[in-house]
Amino acid sequence: MSNNRTEELQRLKQELTRRLERYEAHQHREGGKLEADFSEQAVQRQNDEVVDSLEHEVRDELRHVIHALERIEQGEGEVCERCGNEINPERLKILPWASLCVRCAEAAE
Ligand SMILES: [Zn+2]
Repeated sequence: MSNNRTEELQRLKQELTRRLERYEAHQHREGGKLEADFSEQAVQRQNDEVVDSLEHEVRDELRHVIHALERIEQGEGEVCERCGNEINPERLKILPWASLCVRCAEAAE
């Protein structure tokens, strides 16, 4: 079961890395475009903001995924990072990158 989780996390890591590369490419391309007229610039700026927040989201997710993979490697993947209790396997099925048990995750919010 823990093998499936690792596979799922590795798949996620690849997917998120690809998405991040696309966002970064988009930001660089838009940044170089200064000749657009004012309304186009406004739309571009909006797009940039959307891509920017997506980029942050994906970067954050990726960080969690990588962190979870590291913890699995260290044999701690199923243990809550905060209280040391076992993380509910059902929770890990839904959130394979989780590193806190339900109780600690709720307390952290
Ligand atoms: Zn906990």
